[in-house]
Amino acid sequence: MKKTRLLILCLCVLFLLSGCKSDPEIRTTSYYDLFDTYISFTTYDLDEAEFNSVSEELYTLLQDFHHQTDIYHHYDGMTNLYDMNAAAGGNPLTVSETLMDFLNFCIEADTVSNHKVNVMLGSVTSLWHEARETGTLPSQESLNAAAELTDIHFLKINSQDNTAVITMPGASLDVGALAKGYAGKLAVNFLRDSGIDNFVLNLGGNVCAYGQPVGTGRDRFTIGIQDPRAADGTYKTTCSVKDACAVTSGDYQRFIEVDGVRYHHIIDPDTLQPSAYHHSVTVICEDSAMADLLSTALFLMPEEEGTALAESYGAEVIYLD
Ligand code: AMP
Ligand code: MG
Repeated sequence: MKKTRLLILCLCVLFLLSGCKSDPEIRTTSYYDLFDTYISFTTYDLDEAEFNSVSEELYTLLQDFHHQTDIYHHYDGMTNLYDMNAAAGGNPLTVSETLMDFLNFCIEADTVSNHKVNVMLGSVTSLWHEARETGTLPSQESLNAAAELTDIHFLKINSQDNTAVITMPGASLDVGALAKGYAGKLAVNFLRDSGIDNFVLNLGGNVCAYGQPVGTGRDRFTIGIQDPRAADGTYKTTCSVKDACAVTSGDYQRFIEVDGVRYHHIIDPDTLQPSAYHHSVTVICEDSAMADLLSTALFLMPEEEGTALAESYGAEVIYLD
């Protein structure tokens, strides 16, 4: 059901993007089994054989990063974040260079976001995850106890020998705020290195749009921004994007309602409760990883503070409150 809704949403995005459905040069493919979301890749540049080959390589790249950053499953032949969470309090594990770089970015994210985006919040976000499954809210006592395990300094990485460890038993990583954006960055780099200039990569609403929508007479892509209080695929506004990524964090994506109050998935580390500043924040900037980091960070801040932070990274912001 969720996938069907995402598919409809993404097809609507594509319709807005293409403006010319019958253009024979538009080729698109979709992946449904990565990052618990719907991913699509559309390009204007390749013939069928080239497109099939690039799509396969793209899938392999995204799948590898998904497996490495998956906190729910172990995969034979690699050390991933599930393994790191399981080994918390134990010995350092050898990880890939890609995972090292990503963990390094995760540590930087804490500083960039003024300690609002903290990947060591796993013990807290897992209580909220459970609440969304069971419909029963976590007690403030259990949240406070879990918060003792969330210091970002519990994550130690050593780039000399590519090892990483969580030093505190029971502490755990949750990279949901950053992984899709970072995957987008890896994918964009791959596509551009492959000589593809005009494309749209949509990772479950994190939309990277490069070049232009060929054949439409337009220079930039138009991306719809979901109305946070309307059915999926209903756009409140649009933004115009070129050679950049638009990433949205919202309170409408994963939530439960208890006694008429909405409890969503983006947790303020200071209150340990879902953040109440905004319904959605869209950040547009060149770097997909930074756009994902900033959209979550700004969601957790008052508008004035967030706008100043976004400006310091040359990013545009659209708030829907
Ligand atoms: P996003 O949709 O990119 O804003 O990321 C939201 C996801 O990040 C949630 O589903 C959680 O997995 C995780 N998360 C929630 N709150 C935080 C936080 N304060 N810091 C880091 N990750 C968080
Ligand atoms: Mg994010």
